[in-house]
Amino acid sequence: MSDDEPGNGGAPGADGYDQARYTDGDRYEPLLSEKRSREVDVETPLPDAVTRDSLELPALSEPELSRHYTRLSQMNYGVESGPFPLGSCTMKYNPSFTEDIAGLPDAAIHPDRDPETMQGTLAVLAQLSDYLAQIGGMDGVTLQPPAGAAGEYTGTMITRAYHEENGEDRSEVLVPDSAHGTNFASAALAGFDVVELPSGDDGRVDIDALEGALGDDTALLMLTNPNTLGLFERDIVDIARMVHEAGGLLYYDGANLNALLGRARPGDMGFDIMHYNVHKTFATPHGGGGPGAGPVGVVEKLEPFLPAPRVRAVDGEGEPAYELFEPEQTIGKVHGFLGNWQVLVKAGAYIARLGDEGLADAGAKAVLNANYLAEQLDYEVPFGPFHHEFVASAGEQDAADVAKRMLDYGVHPPTTKWPETVEEALMTEPTEGENRRTLDQLAAAFNAVAGEDETTVASAPRRTAARRIDQVDAARHPRLSWHALDE
Ligand SMILES: *Cc1c(COP(=O)(O)O)cnc(C)c1O
Repeated sequence: MSDDEPGNGGAPGADGYDQARYTDGDRYEPLLSEKRSREVDVETPLPDAVTRDSLELPALSEPELSRHYTRLSQMNYGVESGPFPLGSCTMKYNPSFTEDIAGLPDAAIHPDRDPETMQGTLAVLAQLSDYLAQIGGMDGVTLQPPAGAAGEYTGTMITRAYHEENGEDRSEVLVPDSAHGTNFASAALAGFDVVELPSGDDGRVDIDALEGALGDDTALLMLTNPNTLGLFERDIVDIARMVHEAGGLLYYDGANLNALLGRARPGDMGFDIMHYNVHKTFATPHGGGGPGAGPVGVVEKLEPFLPAPRVRAVDGEGEPAYELFEPEQTIGKVHGFLGNWQVLVKAGAYIARLGDEGLADAGAKAVLNANYLAEQLDYEVPFGPFHHEFVASAGEQDAADVAKRMLDYGVHPPTTKWPETVEEALMTEPTEGENRRTLDQLAAAFNAVAGEDETTVASAPRRTAARRIDQVDAARHPRLSWHALDE
């Protein structure tokens, strides 16, 4: 197909779009209403001013409909199509039994029901809170935040409330330069001044820089451990002591908990607050804007500030066994009701199915896979050995071009150009779900691209549903409905 023919989103031609145009390069799958539609009269008791006389609705047979959605799914790439080593995102496979459990009739529950009539739901939530507290070495957990970033925001608001309660005015949150962008944003949103800490030559926290930054204004240090380079902060116990001596709190960005599962706990390292991304570590759906959950765990002294309501077991035998309560100094609500229940129930099912041994095994395999893959690459891989992920450097090549070219080899590329501590970063996280054969295929794709000339790499992708898109325009002027195409 030549470049001037319509691409994804191009205008349809005459009627008869029964066949998707599956060619190399751009494909076009028409909208249902473009395929075949018919006018339907509308009868409604609503006032004329707000209604139409007729509606144009798609008129398709079941096979046509089924093929439409199958074709759309084939134009996409997901963890069910192939490996998805998108670093820091932990795109692990979501086992389908968790969907079965979330789909049970008893799991479909109206959130406004009287707590006495939803004891089973509360039991599941209490159990998940307990699992997460054990995994993280925390004393209390809220399941309410709907994402990792929302968990960070909750943690920084708890930090604010804690210092205020102690009559202290602490305005600064320290964040290492290798941290996830949400750390900076969450701290700023909670009203703190963000102080960026430079990394040392070994890719870890620079202890001297930390010493210099700590002071009476320090409210919190936010750390990711292993950090986004996949490196464990070996000085974590000293770091925790320094922060606490300065009167600050220590926050653990636990979005990527894979490497620690069943082996080490942030609470034991001296962290006071942490969030968990169940949609990364605990195999719940992730991406495409779907709902996630970012529960937050805290040590005992911070429990009174957790969001309301919380679930607790009622003392003594009998019914009801669980109740909701409002912590005394709660920061309020950070999401509706008890959080994203349908996501949480899947995380609970996953943890229960794996158990202690299974979780530790998943973590070990995630670490083994990252180190194995790093060894296979022709690209330079600074630092190491690694935990759940590693960062290779595309060197002379442009990391974003490398990523697009990898799509032509049928694999999802790594995260690119971040962290900035590595030039042309290719941040790669294979996860525990891939076997050696798949890892070898992945390495072969990386290495094939590493050996290609600039023109080939810079003109990729060629074999995807959409070719090069204008990323800046797509971000600045998103077309969120097909009406925008008409305009
Ligand atoms: C993904 C991620 C986050 C943010 O999580 P969201 O659920 O996307 O808001 C924070 N920190 C790290 C290290 C992450 O990888």
